[in-house]
Amino acid sequence: MSMYVCGPTTYNYFHAGNARMFVVFDMIRRYFMHKGYDVRYVQNFTDIDDKIIQRGNTEGMEPLALGQKYIEEYFKDAKALNILPATVHPKATEHIPEMIEIIQGLMKSGLAYEVEGDVYFAVDHFPNYGKLSGRTLDDMKAGARVEVDERKHFPMDFALWKNAKPGEPAWESPWGQGRPGWHIECTAMSLKYLGAGFDIHGGGGDLVFPHHENEIAQTEGYLKGETFARYWMHNAFLTINQEKMSKSMGNFFTTRELLVNYPGEVIRFYLLGTHYRSPLDFSDENLVMAQKGLERLQTSIRLSQQALERLDSSKNERIQVELVQAAKEAREAFEKAMDDDFNSALAYAALFELAKTMNGYVQENPVYSKGLAEAQKTLVELGEVLGFDLLHPAQVSIEKGEILAQVMEVVLEIRARSRQKKDWEMADFIRDALKEKDIIIEDTPQGARWQIKK
Ligand code: AMP
Ligand code: ZN
Repeated sequence: MSMYVCGPTTYNYFHAGNARMFVVFDMIRRYFMHKGYDVRYVQNFTDIDDKIIQRGNTEGMEPLALGQKYIEEYFKDAKALNILPATVHPKATEHIPEMIEIIQGLMKSGLAYEVEGDVYFAVDHFPNYGKLSGRTLDDMKAGARVEVDERKHFPMDFALWKNAKPGEPAWESPWGQGRPGWHIECTAMSLKYLGAGFDIHGGGGDLVFPHHENEIAQTEGYLKGETFARYWMHNAFLTINQEKMSKSMGNFFTTRELLVNYPGEVIRFYLLGTHYRSPLDFSDENLVMAQKGLERLQTSIRLSQQALERLDSSKNERIQVELVQAAKEAREAFEKAMDDDFNSALAYAALFELAKTMNGYVQENPVYSKGLAEAQKTLVELGEVLGFDLLHPAQVSIEKGEILAQVMEVVLEIRARSRQKKDWEMADFIRDALKEKDIIIEDTPQGARWQIKK
């Protein structure tokens, strides 16, 4: 089976809201794998767009290099969250010729037009525009802002190709130097790596309109009506004080920051603890609750492991049928929950129930090893389906966070002393070297503070 998921725009570390999307679709992928499907999974990198160019300019970094930097950082944080690498991670900038070819096809079919080096998709020439989001062109027109671009034939027409502005990265095209609009990359990369009619197209709920609506219009327009994706799935938002966590609003925590205080598996456990189509509110309390929940499962595995090591299975021939039964029931409840639109929150309940039963037996004597081994194996295996390695808990990184804070205190003290001695070279070196590692020092009246760059 085949899945395409819209990946990150790489101008920053990804935030916890993005992480929700990556973890949710990783969970869905893993469940299909558990069911025996061979999953071909494509997740792109948007490594050129306005925000990347802007951030490159403010940081004095070449936009394409900035995009590349955050692709590398993506893999580090994704690994910490135990997100499997995609089968293919295509980058927009490496698929410009494919995009140009599709745009040319659309122009030939009368679905796109050029204006002074820009190319637009003509939404009113595509009969089903609005079918995913349930909007009509009339509604959209009424909702369109007054200052629409005069050069567009219709207010909702969107850019397939953008004429180069001076100093921006640009590629050669039949319409002159320019760069692609955002939507076209997903059409080009999904068709290239999965072909038309692939199984599931996923992304966050903010992508339904306009991004996915536009993907459908341009792809099905290009394919002359052939189906683009068979199913569409969207996760609800991670919110903070009931508002969407987003880079543009500034109300976000990067995964990198959270990893200072929480192991990746705790963040993952928190993100999957709510059904993917329900909003999930971000707070430290919720993360701490997730940490406790995960620890309950880990403790149960540890206790059963100790009991199994104590028991001599050769003299322990009997099977604890109750535990075998509990394992069977847990598996059934787990699969039922996951079969019902990937209800990972309910699947957790099956894991907790089994852990509770195991704890009860481990504390009693005698326990028969065969039943316990079966129950433990089941709990580990079901945990793994959701991307948790219950046998090997991560080191508690709260400790790591504390150590980091202590080390930083010493570093800032050294810098303060250098400044007292007017050793500006050393003080600047410390600040700049930390900045290289994305640790930002800020001097305040109360002394220097540090934070990981957002
Ligand atoms: P971006 O890097 O902004 O293009 O977003 C990458 C992915 O994360 C997209 O699929 C978004 O829909 C998703 N996303 C962004 N913000 C949130 C959020 N607060 N909650 C859940 N998913 C999000
Ligand atoms: Zn996309």
